[in-house]
Amino acid sequence: MFSKILIANRGEIALRILRACREMGIRTVAVHSTADESAMHVRLADEAVCIGPPAARDSYLNVAAILSAATITGAEAIHPGYGFLSENADFAETVEAHGLTFIGPTAAHIRTMGDKITAKTTMQALGVPLVPGSDGELTNLDEARDVASKVGYPVLIKAAAGGGGRGMKVAHSEAELAEAWSVARTEALAAFGNDAVYLEKYLNRPRHIELQILGDTHGNVVHFGERDCSLQRRHQKLLEEAGSPVLSPEERDAIGATATAALATMGYRNAGTLEFLYQDGQFSFIEMNTRLQVEHPVTEVVCDIDLVREQIRIAAGEKLGYTQSDITFSGHAIECRINAEDPDTFIPSPGTIEVFHPPGGPGVRIDSAIYAGYRVPPFYDSMIAKLIVHAPTRAAAIARMQRALDEIVVEGVKTVIPLHRRILADPEFQRGDYTIHWLEQFTSRNRS
Ligand code: ADP
Repeated sequence: MFSKILIANRGEIALRILRACREMGIRTVAVHSTADESAMHVRLADEAVCIGPPAARDSYLNVAAILSAATITGAEAIHPGYGFLSENADFAETVEAHGLTFIGPTAAHIRTMGDKITAKTTMQALGVPLVPGSDGELTNLDEARDVASKVGYPVLIKAAAGGGGRGMKVAHSEAELAEAWSVARTEALAAFGNDAVYLEKYLNRPRHIELQILGDTHGNVVHFGERDCSLQRRHQKLLEEAGSPVLSPEERDAIGATATAALATMGYRNAGTLEFLYQDGQFSFIEMNTRLQVEHPVTEVVCDIDLVREQIRIAAGEKLGYTQSDITFSGHAIECRINAEDPDTFIPSPGTIEVFHPPGGPGVRIDSAIYAGYRVPPFYDSMIAKLIVHAPTRAAAIARMQRALDEIVVEGVKTVIPLHRRILADPEFQRGDYTIHWLEQFTSRNRS
């Protein structure tokens, strides 16, 4: 086992990783920008190294500075968290070339899944069902028109290098195709430096259901069930549940078996998430994330597992030590992402947290790095906390989340807490009756 790990991230996820390390008796090295000198992960780590100015490209994305920090502190492994360098295959490769362990999959697997076209063809060859669409990259508008007329409108033009919901444009008819085509390509080039695009049928009422997978370096692959992440705004998740309100245990077993068989064939190691759209009882693969996800805690609480600990054990070469039949699901979990944003306009609201009172009591978990007096910097993601509840049934989890949302106090910055309260009180949400389009409709009819 490692004796020292460098955490190449910030905020709640840096703290989450630090907590797992501490419980495993592993010392931690925090890295931070000059904007994060008084951040919680810096205060709690055994050692901390400043790696640059506030802009992420100069600090949290600064590979040379992070590797120097690992070398001077004698860290043996690097955990990238999510975002930043977590899905950067070159980074994973460079870490290993320096004789350190990258806590994640191989660089080759990150690269394969980082290109959504390669990811889809790889998964298709392994028997995983896809959304109908183009066979790989489209090189011109005529090709796009042909595929669109075959699969039927509406269609979605998507960037091969896409992420965070960018580089994605819908065309409801042939008349809209040319514009969707050029906007998606322009956006993709600007955001990712790569204008390769492909086409998918735009599903009108799917749910976003994803599967949590772990694989070790000895060929064992298991899944920890699904998360329903259909509540999204601009393709960004806001509230997640485990399990999905609509999936039966048999459907979970079936898609789980397909997914774990595919990843075992690939020789996939460490944590990964297969994302699917689910409509009319059909799963269609859209992409794979080769890292820990923001929403991993809902899986942790229903499966009683520490996924970060598992990631570290796997990276150290240990065997999983359990099989699929040992993994059981207990009760229901919900996570609300608390972003420092205006709850109506979603405009970020950086500033000083004047009061912070976290909720508590049975079945409540809060993953956050904020404290009273903490300044939310304007340079990074606006998520400041994740509130997670676990209860025996979905109805009890909803009641528990409502109770926790009543208790929580965050003053000094605007947050999306009022929006979460409205969502939890909504009869359609309470019935589990929602698709990926539900939240945008809900927010346009309900304002604070
Ligand atoms: P990103 O990597 O940018 O997050 P994804 O491919 O994971 O992109 O898609 C993000 C979200 O966009 C999905 O969760 C879903 O809400 C929506 N989406 C993606 N593909 C489709 C599709 N074919 N039809 C309808 N919605 C889609």
